[in-house]
Amino acid sequence: MASTIPSVQIPQDILDTIFSGAKQLYPRESFLLLRGKKNKGIIKITDLVLAPFAVHGEGNVHFNPYMFSGDYSLVGTVHSHPSGNISPSHVDMNYFFGRILMIVGPPFEGKNCIAAYDSNAERLPVEITAAIGFDSEE
Ligand SMILES: [Zn+2]
Repeated sequence: MASTIPSVQIPQDILDTIFSGAKQLYPRESFLLLRGKKNKGIIKITDLVLAPFAVHGEGNVHFNPYMFSGDYSLVGTVHSHPSGNISPSHVDMNYFFGRILMIVGPPFEGKNCIAAYDSNAERLPVEITAAIGFDSEE
């Protein structure tokens, strides 16, 4: 049985918020949780959640996924790789949470600076969709 690889849809304004946060923290890593919906093989990102207990620095970001057990609207995480290599590290895969892992890299602009992976580190197609009027809390 071949399983269908899901694709990821992210609204332009949420992506912009991820990019601007990553730029602000650069050269440290940024880290956010993704809220969304899965429907017919498409994971739609609908919101961002700050993870206040995430620790930034030294190339690794840690957070406790058990804090979020039971919140089924969370579909995964996004963090930045200031190095520009947007492949997941072993640490990333060990801390995999939810359905998708997104990584953004400098210059934090456009489609080539974002990648999404499933729990097998398979790269998923990412589609940038129209802005939804998302309000950043910044
Ligand atoms: Zn990483």
